[in-house]
Amino acid sequence: MTKRDYYEILGIEKNSDEATIKKAYRKLALQFHPDKNPDNKAAEEKFKEASEAYEVLSDAGKRQTYDQYGHAGIDNQFGSGGFSWDNFTHQSDLNDIFGDGFSSIFENFFGGGMGGRSQRSSNRGEDLQIELSLSLKDIAVGVEKTIKIGVKDACDKCNGSGSADGSVEACTQCHGTGQVRRVRQSLFGQMQTVSECPSCRGEGKIIKTKCTKCYGEGRMGKVKEISVKIPAGVEEGQYIRVRGQGNIGPRSGERGDILVLIREKQDDTFERDGNNIILEYPVSFSQAVLGDEVLVPTLTASVKMKVPAGTQSGRLFRLKGQGIQGLHTYSKGDLIVRISVITPTKLSKDEIELFTTLKSFDSKRKLEPGKSFLSKLKDIFS
Ligand SMILES: [Zn+2]
Ligand SMILES: [Zn+2]
Repeated sequence: MTKRDYYEILGIEKNSDEATIKKAYRKLALQFHPDKNPDNKAAEEKFKEASEAYEVLSDAGKRQTYDQYGHAGIDNQFGSGGFSWDNFTHQSDLNDIFGDGFSSIFENFFGGGMGGRSQRSSNRGEDLQIELSLSLKDIAVGVEKTIKIGVKDACDKCNGSGSADGSVEACTQCHGTGQVRRVRQSLFGQMQTVSECPSCRGEGKIIKTKCTKCYGEGRMGKVKEISVKIPAGVEEGQYIRVRGQGNIGPRSGERGDILVLIREKQDDTFERDGNNIILEYPVSFSQAVLGDEVLVPTLTASVKMKVPAGTQSGRLFRLKGQGIQGLHTYSKGDLIVRISVITPTKLSKDEIELFTTLKSFDSKRKLEPGKSFLSKLKDIFS
């Protein structure tokens, strides 16, 4: 998408003076004010776009660079993701424009950098954490699990209001806004700070007659069953966030989230190495010497694998794509099969005879101990 021209965004001429630029921005800011357009992503984007244009054009230096080089000259002044609210240096102008509404804008867009949480989120319910043990088989392909969890839900007696008779009064200290404002004199003139109302803790309302079941909190404990989709490839210690399923906030506040902590069960057969799976596979002397076709278990089924004649103990075979589906990739890990040649212990008479015969051939192969034992073995047997 090509970026729009800053003058076009503000709807002004190229030779506009400072006052005109400010007036144009003011008009757009009022129009796309997030409080007037709640949950309207398009309006939010327009507001941001206008703010970016204003940030550049209201600064003589930046404006000159833009006039000369266009967006290419300006973009590198913002972060790698382009203009963000952190780049906006005219908060005081927003204060002039919005007066009272300024604080909520600030908290929505500046990540609460001015301190305090917005009224909307101050009585948000708590996030909950729960552990979920998964087998390697579940992890390999992804799984949907049902989890039972104790959460705070709306009180069924007062319907979450917290009030016994349904009546709720506006807080007298903040007049229902949930915020208190203090004005003080400073070196730079009048400074205004906005903070959460201590009397109603930002809710803006007071309950006179509290519900007898929840004592005015508007919520109570319940056991809930939630369904969690676990993508393939998750690892021990990772979290899956299930949005809006945690505790409800007091008096019908916003719901918190549930954080599902992934625990990986030890597997009896397979060992995990990233998205690869390691499997120790036992073969007999005769299989190793003469070669064989074996059936190797995988996380989901089993596959045939050829053990070539003369396979040494410890040799690795890679079965492509038989491992774990990667979490952030389309590719799958592999199954690494490590061959283990098993020395038989309980032998029959016949077997002892046969091994004795075999032993008589040993003198023809000289086995030398040392660090590179395996590579020497290779020479001998090849
Ligand atoms: Zn209640
Ligand atoms: Zn209050």
